[in-house]
Order: sequence, then C-alpha cells, then structure tokens
Amino acid sequence: MDREMELNSLGEFGLIRRIASAVKVPDGVLGIGDDCATLPQKEGMETLVTTDMLVEGSHFLLDDIPAYMLGWKSAAVNISDIAAMGGRPSASFLSLALPGKLGSEWLDEFMQGYLDLSKRYGCTLLGGDTTSSPDRLCINVTVLGESVHGQAKLRSGAVPGDLICVSGPLGDSAGGLRVILDRLERGADEKELVRRHYAPLPRVSEGLALAATEGVHAMMDISDGIGSDLRHILEASGTGAEVDLKALPLSDELRHCCERHGWDPYRLACSGGEDYELLFTAAPDTELPTWAKVIGRITDGSELKWTGSDEDYGGFAHF
Ligand code: ADP
Ligand code: MG
Repeated sequence: MDREMELNSLGEFGLIRRIASAVKVPDGVLGIGDDCATLPQKEGMETLVTTDMLVEGSHFLLDDIPAYMLGWKSAAVNISDIAAMGGRPSASFLSLALPGKLGSEWLDEFMQGYLDLSKRYGCTLLGGDTTSSPDRLCINVTVLGESVHGQAKLRSGAVPGDLICVSGPLGDSAGGLRVILDRLERGADEKELVRRHYAPLPRVSEGLALAATEGVHAMMDISDGIGSDLRHILEASGTGAEVDLKALPLSDELRHCCERHGWDPYRLACSGGEDYELLFTAAPDTELPTWAKVIGRITDGSELKWTGSDEDYGGFAHF
C-alpha cells in the first residue's frame, strides 16, 4: 500500500484491517474482527485489568516523540501496571482517536513500536476502537493480565518495619525529558536518558518474582515520581515512611548529565516521573533479589520523612 496515503482515505475499516494484519493471535483466542474478543479462563488464576489514556499535549508532544516510540510507550506504561501487581500481561486493547494530520506511514510506525513491545512481553493485541479526532491524538490502552489467585501485590499491604525498595535507577526518564525539552546536544549519556524516557521497559519478570515472594507486602510502579507514588502506598496501608534520599539509585548516565548540565539528581529521581521501576515493601528478613535497592523503611504514623537533605522533594501531579 502507498506509504504516503492519508489515513482518511483508508477509512475506519481499512485502518482496522491494516492493524489486524500485523497481529498474530495465539490458538484458542479470538482477536480483532468480531464484537468481542474471547480468552480462555485458566483455573487458579485471577484476571488483572488496567487502562490508561494518553492525550497529545498533556502526556506527549507529537512533534517531539517518534511514532515508533509513542507506540512502544503506550503499550509499555500499561504493561507496567500489570507488572506492578506481580502479574503476567496477556492481551491488550488499543483505542485511537486519530487527527487527519497523521498519515498511514505514521500509523505503521506507531503500530510497529506498539507490537514490538507487546511481543517482547507476550501480550497480544485483541481489539480496540478507531475514530477520528478533530484536533489532538488520543490513545487509550487496556491491558489484561493474570496472576496466581491471591498472589497479586496491592498498595495496601505495607506494615511498619518493612524495608522500602525499588527495582532500578530513578530519574533517568525525567532527565531524558529535560534533554528533549531543553533541546540539549545529545552525547551518549543524553541519548541513553532520552531512550529511557521514550522506551521504558516494564519490570514484568521482576514483578513476577516479587509476587512469588511471601515477604513482599505492597507494590506499585513508579509513574509520577517516588515522592508522590510512595504516598499512595502509605495512604492505602495507613503507615508512614522514612526514605534516605542518598540511597535512591542513580544511573551513571544521569550522574554525568547532572554534572554537565547542573541538574539536581535527587529532584529528578524524586519528583520526575515515568521511570516505571517497581516500588515495593518487604519484611526485613526477606531474601531480596540482587537488583532490589533498599531506600528506606515503613514507619508507624502517616508522615513521609526524607533523610539526607533539607529540601522538599514532592512528586509530579497531573492536576
Ligand atoms: P464495533 O462496532 O463492534 O465496536 P468496530 O468496527 O469498532 O466494532 O471494530 C471492529 C473490530 O476491530 C473489533 O474487533 C475491534 O476490537 C477491532 N478494532 C477496532 N479498532 C482497533 C484498533 N485500533 N486496534 C485493534 N483493534 C481494533
Ligand atoms: Mg467500535
């Protein structure tokens, strides 16, 4: 098909056919093309469902993010919510409100990124909705996953005395966003931060390992920044916490960029979002995987106390 052909001339059904032709559906599953998708139920398992909306101008800037990366990220941020419960992603639904300014080449690249990421995590696109938008691009993704009955880790499980841990470095994505918005020259470090911002890798295998670990009590993924995300665990669990700012894991790339551009690494690590690392609490005698970094402790009360600095490191709030 002509790569320059505009989406309008393809029509809704042409578009859906184009999307469907790129998807391979597992045996026993009914995917794109009927009124509903069907998925076999597995005994002893629970179904996890999550959905997220991405709006041009608030969650991404269409001129800045390559179509492939936007597709990748749209799938990744939702799969990360399944990882956050300790689940395994299985299927996704993708709804698009497409403005006329986008061509079929853009859609093909978007779908390539979406499907490449999905394939990596064994998540099959089974349906969605397609409509036109008068102005902005809107993307809604729903992901289904599964977890062993009773094993999903909730935000409400933290108890005083628990260690607070993260699965990997924080602040890289926020650093990448600074590189993009400030239009900084991109050396190897800056490029790596931009890649982490555009193409996060949800921590599915890490989440599955933590789900199977009894001592792990509460878990979520870090999408808004640990400063605000940790508060969700504290509120849901009715606890407080003490976090050592200097214990937050920082990548070498972020350290280098902070030196070069005069950024505050702890501000980026705390209040910058979109790292999609796991944040979890575990009983102190739990045998933790080597990639788990302890950053603090759950306490009685309801206060979130930072040690290691006098500054207030909040977190990103959309509203
Ligand atoms: P309905 O009228 O039942 O809502 P649609 O015409 O909207 O059906 O969609 C037809 C089929 O294409 C359905 O299986 C739907 O899930 C799928 N579909 C529509 N848009 C998308 C999309 N953007 N990505 C994947 N599947 C889609
Ligand atoms: Mg429809």
